[in-house]
Amino acid sequence: MRYCIVGAGFSGAVIGRALAEAGHKVLVIDERLHVAGNCHSQRDPQTGVMTHVYGPHIFHTADERVWAYVQRFGGMRPYRHRVQAVAGGMVYSLPVNLLTINQFFRKVMGPEEARAFVATKTRPISNPANFEEQALSMIGAELYEAFFRGYTRKQWGLDPAQLPASILKRLPLRFDYDDSYFAHPHQAIPERGYTELVAAILDTPNLELCLGARFEDLTEAFAHVVYSGPIDRYFHYDLGRLGYRTLDFETIRARGDYQGTAVVNYCDEATPYTRITEHKHFAPWEKVKIEGTILYREFSRFCGPNDIPYYPIRQTNEEAMLKKYVDRAMATPGVTFVGRLGSYRYLDMDVTIGEALTAGDAMLERIAKAADIPVFFVPPLQHG
Ligand code: UDP
Repeated sequence: MRYCIVGAGFSGAVIGRALAEAGHKVLVIDERLHVAGNCHSQRDPQTGVMTHVYGPHIFHTADERVWAYVQRFGGMRPYRHRVQAVAGGMVYSLPVNLLTINQFFRKVMGPEEARAFVATKTRPISNPANFEEQALSMIGAELYEAFFRGYTRKQWGLDPAQLPASILKRLPLRFDYDDSYFAHPHQAIPERGYTELVAAILDTPNLELCLGARFEDLTEAFAHVVYSGPIDRYFHYDLGRLGYRTLDFETIRARGDYQGTAVVNYCDEATPYTRITEHKHFAPWEKVKIEGTILYREFSRFCGPNDIPYYPIRQTNEEAMLKKYVDRAMATPGVTFVGRLGSYRYLDMDVTIGEALTAGDAMLERIAKAADIPVFFVPPLQHG
């Protein structure tokens, strides 16, 4: 019997390839007509710009295994992500660094002076229980209100006091002029786009890829199913729907260089969108040759039944619902849940790939021993 992998994003592709390379027959399906899930990139026919169809994706990692793995499947071009932020009619540098602090407070401070100055603004909260407390204890009320409060309310549709501190912990605070958005040693964009990269992972003997196919419609019996779709969907939403944020994009087309960088965040709550992405800047090696430009104005809203899920919200009530789905999954033989949607976690690409590599190895070990394959390789409920 074949193994079935549901979803041709990074999770599904990496696990599918691991099984196929070990000699197992694998069917990978995806209901969309392209691979790479929400990382999908496609050349815009009008401008020739490689477009991140579901919003900006920047590959960054400190995991040498993951870095070596992605490099096997296509050229990775160095790309340093920098973000500008518009707040109160001014443009600042993000993540909050010495330039942001000096400009925002109209000061000329060195690193230690700035550290001491910001410390006078923060509130001592020993164990921040949510995003707002984390922000107040890290950067103080003024920076929080200018850069995080409004943006976060737009992005998540919730007050930051209702969100976990872990979301803010994604971003560093720096007391030097390093304005690199990510601190990881490897930061890159696939030369031919994410879709080509994932297609190359899937391109191996023993693996059949079937696009435009829904798991619900399959009748074949499989040795095991690896499911990277939404866990609540697998169980027909029997216990309710886990909440996600989805994104809408408004396309802007122009000539030349429209905003001068890849991503500008709009932090004021009164501006309805969260950020504007100018895709050509993600490919500095080819942008000089491209005259036109395409941008996405990004709007976040609650994900309805027919929308594409992006960000798991993970409110307290959802954690409780997730727990019930996890219990149900644990009692369901023959299926393993993986990835962002399968485990309802806010995962970066490198973490997704790393977990999939580990899951692939562990599955092969179990198969070799004719042992049961776990329902989860990473328990969804241990997420920060
Ligand atoms: N965030 C913010 N203002 C910004 C950028 C980020 O308030 O200008 C907050 C927001 O809550 C966001 C979180 O920090 O969801 C994480 O930001 P990141 O850039 O990692 O988000 P992603 O690119 O994954 O959407």
